[in-house]
Amino acid sequence: MSVNRIICLDAGHGGKDSGATGYGLREKDLCLERVLRMKQLFERKYRGSTVLLTRNTDVFLELGERVQVANEAGADVFISDHKNALNGSARGFESFIWNGGVSPSTRKLQATVHQHVIGALKRYNMPDRGKKQADFSVVKGSNMPAVLLEEGFIDHETDNSLLRQTDFKEAYCQAVVEGVAEYLGLQTKKDSRNSATSKEDKQDVLEHREIALQPTGAFATIQSTLNRRYNLSITIDNLFGPETREAFVKGLQTELNKQYNRGLTVDGVFGPKTKASCVNIREGASGNITWILQAILYCLGYQLGEIDGEFGIKTREAVKTFQRDTKLKIDGIAGKETFQKLFG
Ligand SMILES: [Zn+2]
Repeated sequence: MSVNRIICLDAGHGGKDSGATGYGLREKDLCLERVLRMKQLFERKYRGSTVLLTRNTDVFLELGERVQVANEAGADVFISDHKNALNGSARGFESFIWNGGVSPSTRKLQATVHQHVIGALKRYNMPDRGKKQADFSVVKGSNMPAVLLEEGFIDHETDNSLLRQTDFKEAYCQAVVEGVAEYLGLQTKKDSRNSATSKEDKQDVLEHREIALQPTGAFATIQSTLNRRYNLSITIDNLFGPETREAFVKGLQTELNKQYNRGLTVDGVFGPKTKASCVNIREGASGNITWILQAILYCLGYQLGEIDGEFGIKTREAVKTFQRDTKLKIDGIAGKETFQKLFG
């Protein structure tokens, strides 16, 4: 009989508190997505553990309530997941424990998880900002070893691209889970069963295969469409960065020339001439400009259903949300100002 260990995973922020934001992503959503995946990984791979979440939906919790969940359950480990922000000027992963009197176990937990995460994220060139200590109340008030993780900077373009990338997310979640499992000395289900044919194992193999086939995914599909349609040769890396943004502008300039005879230089720079050439795209529109609008909104993290070049209700709502976020007039019509905010 092995002892059952309780792991409390805390998704930072939630509800009215979005946490940090950047390029259309919200910290609270990423944190929730991560802890849900980590819970699944613990349950699939390890035995002798129970995973408790401080929240499993988009709700607001006071910091004290989060700690209370862990303390009342008598959890063995408390992991609080967060994404960082610093005016777009910093990158990297860092972990925090309380800067007061912490136990050697707390230091060991931090060191183990930190090492696993840095090891896994090395191939993405994620900088290591180090093992830190701070007066954070979620790590201070807990009765058990507690670590707060800052996966990366949501408001830095490079980190933001990584934070939304499927294989990066998976590598991070697996590393955290492996670190905690090592700290707790959890046995894997495979060890205890000595068989590699269960449904869960097959599922894992499938997931790894999907990851091995990267780059695939929605961004990669958008990138290859841009290459094919506009005769470009951007890298298909499933990352939304400056190169893809420039390709979008080239696509837009090409369409404005073709459809409206604008005579623009197709240089990928959204300058005053391109802005002045933009037309109003609204509900009911369809075609390649609508596709460009949908695709860049999607890349920026806005939900709009199918990227099909048909401007429907979902596209209109996504445009409105974008206009609200960027403090434009909220009319759901993509005109010169909206295009400038999207591409400028
Ligand atoms: Zn946070």
